[in-house]
Amino acid sequence: MELLIKGSTEIALLPYSDFESIIGDPYQRTEQNIIDQFNSTDYKPQVIFLGLDERSKDGMTYKSHSGAPYFAIDLTPRKSVIQACEALIVTLESRGLSFSKSRMELSLPAQDAAIYAEARHMLDWNLRNPFCASCGFPTLSTNAGWKRTCPPKDLAGAVNDASKTEREPCATRGTISNLSFPRTDPTVIMAVVSADAQRILLGRQRRWPPYWYSTLAGFLEPAESVEEAVRREVWEESGIKLGRVVIHSTQPWPYPANLMIGAIGQAIPDGETIDLGNDPELDDAKWYTMDVLREALQNGTSGLGEDAPPGYKKGNLRLPPPTAIANRLMTAVADGFVSSGARM
Ligand SMILES: [Zn+2]
Repeated sequence: MELLIKGSTEIALLPYSDFESIIGDPYQRTEQNIIDQFNSTDYKPQVIFLGLDERSKDGMTYKSHSGAPYFAIDLTPRKSVIQACEALIVTLESRGLSFSKSRMELSLPAQDAAIYAEARHMLDWNLRNPFCASCGFPTLSTNAGWKRTCPPKDLAGAVNDASKTEREPCATRGTISNLSFPRTDPTVIMAVVSADAQRILLGRQRRWPPYWYSTLAGFLEPAESVEEAVRREVWEESGIKLGRVVIHSTQPWPYPANLMIGAIGQAIPDGETIDLGNDPELDDAKWYTMDVLREALQNGTSGLGEDAPPGYKKGNLRLPPPTAIANRLMTAVADGFVSSGARM
């Protein structure tokens, strides 16, 4: 999914008039009417209402709220709007705007990054869920892109009998499970310190550049607490056994729908032996002293595809940049989050 940008560090914000010919007025009809008139062969580009910027004076007013509404629109040329979208893309590019090819937008200011993360997560979820998980028939985007519903009728004709528009009963239409909601996949990412809090455990994946290490990470499993997930992942990937685990901070990561839960874990005294044999995920894992960690945080951080910074000496440890939660966790450890006596 590519993001429309202005320059390299600013998202492009454009007025509704630029998109009117493609999306029409998606809020002209009531939602009930849209559900009643559902036709699975109609294609409309996905539109997501992202929220209201209440600092803006020249926007709209809804009940007690006023501000500028922000929307995300999927401009991928598809089906009935192929030509219209292609023409609009050419127009936008002729105005000096471009679509970012980068997968991660770590150079955006925090507010733009937050808008992009929300837009990307929501567009991606809608695109990946065109069918009902219960009955398998096409669903309809509702609630301004925040839910998907399985309509009881399809004017294109029911799947088993084209002469009828009534669909088969679907469990999602009753009670409180009548809609499907965007999903967020919790991921744990953790800085692991030794029992005496004087060393940090870092691991590396095979595809990373030489000397590049980071914190360990993995998906939370169903019915698992965050603390259990941290202990399990660390044991699987490195063989280290953890005692105390505390949650430090979190970061949304919409690739496609992750919430990274950052934790700091402390090894138990007889659980510090590295063993990569449980799970062949890591290329290597090592204990580093706090001095080596501090030197790398000072001179060895950069984005994954970028060159090492000017102060970096070849052969020294390389780490992710301050925009990554892994860096924040390592910085917390280097600053004495554990060893200064902070209650874990
Ligand atoms: Zn259904």
